[in-house]
Amino acid sequence: MEFEDILIIPPGINFECTGCGNCCLMWPVPVTQSDYLRITSHLEPLTDEQAGLNYFKERDTASSSAAADKLNQFPYILEKQLDGRCTFLTDELRCHLHENFGETAKPSMCQLFPYTFTEAPDGFYAGLSFAASGVLFNSGRSLEEQRDFLKTRLALFKRLFPNLRLDWSTIQLYDGQPLKWVDYLLAEKKLLRIFRPLSAPPEGDDDDDGVTTSNGGIALTINKQLLMASTLLTELVPKEVDLDHENLLDVSPLQTDLVIVRHLLDFFLPADTYAARRDAFGAHVFKQHLTQPPDIVQMLISNETSVPLAQICRLKLGHLDDDSEELLRRFVYCRIFGKLYFGAGFGHLSVISGFHHLGLLVALVRIRLKFLHFYNSHKVGINVNIIEMKMPPVSFVEVAELIRGLERRLSSLQYSKEVAVSLQVLLESPLRFARIIALSE
Ligand code: SF4
Repeated sequence: MEFEDILIIPPGINFECTGCGNCCLMWPVPVTQSDYLRITSHLEPLTDEQAGLNYFKERDTASSSAAADKLNQFPYILEKQLDGRCTFLTDELRCHLHENFGETAKPSMCQLFPYTFTEAPDGFYAGLSFAASGVLFNSGRSLEEQRDFLKTRLALFKRLFPNLRLDWSTIQLYDGQPLKWVDYLLAEKKLLRIFRPLSAPPEGDDDDDGVTTSNGGIALTINKQLLMASTLLTELVPKEVDLDHENLLDVSPLQTDLVIVRHLLDFFLPADTYAARRDAFGAHVFKQHLTQPPDIVQMLISNETSVPLAQICRLKLGHLDDDSEELLRRFVYCRIFGKLYFGAGFGHLSVISGFHHLGLLVALVRIRLKFLHFYNSHKVGINVNIIEMKMPPVSFVEVAELIRGLERRLSSLQYSKEVAVSLQVLLESPLRFARIIALSE
């Protein structure tokens, strides 16, 4: 079999479109020249002047980042309505182009969505965007059953990104420790066993490597699984290597944890998910706060009020319902399977720092849930005493919307090299990771 044909599909992951229209909100959909010509031909009998005027705008190509380079083939983006909906989205939440001219009339990126592919040394790994409701709900047929269709999406992906080559030749277990691809895959196999979705068929006995699988009959919380996976990875590190670097910064480790959480929370899960897009992480203030943290790390809950982050974290969230736990597990599983958390798949972080960054994203979701509860109580005028507050049950929809927001941010993320280097060092630490997970408990 040609390498080109090797398509590797995650087990237990399903998708069908729920028709909710959510995917057609807010996204800056990039458009190729041939998309543009095809769509404008469907827009006739508009005049030349009208065609393209309200439906497209030229993409800002000034940035030369890797993310921007990936979009070289896309000279336009779709224009939005004032409320952020795509101009082609009808009141019935249907795509005008799809409904009237067939699926292939839509922009290529809309045809590709929500499928994603990562090219790795041993094939193309399929995945899905968690911005789609069908993915959040894991609804529909399994991706394995849709293999033939996925092959057509992979062909489309290759056409859209012909020059996208990910360099996996320099992956590291931790900073300065190279890792061979074959050894990475062995470690990954164990990670995947931990987070294997309950919807995946059980594995055969020949895979018994002493790792407790999530669908092996023992229900572990996502936090326990994250800690288990962190231990598994750090056990690969020689005993004499200190990943914790506690003395590196002249600041208390807990204060540094709070600064990291505060800045990443603000970036990935801002209080208003739909606020003006901020594609770049605020490196300058982050760096300043790392070296000179404020006495109390605060989070804004309204224009006038802020709350100490440490206090909010003291609220106990506890176990989520089974569906929410499974959603968080599936999110982690898919990013590991798709290699979208380390190396060329994410910020060139080492495997350990990349995994801790991924686990941190789950912690951010949980901490944002605590904030939401606090914020809602504050809004309705309840005398808020955090010490005495108890978290009410969290709904699956709340968790799903946060994951959707997180995915949107991840899709446009640009960490500067400087921030990536800081995160590489800071998140290498298993102790820091355990403390941040504890903040989200
Ligand atoms: S072109 Fe159609 S599918 Fe694409 S964002 Fe607009 S409404 Fe949605």
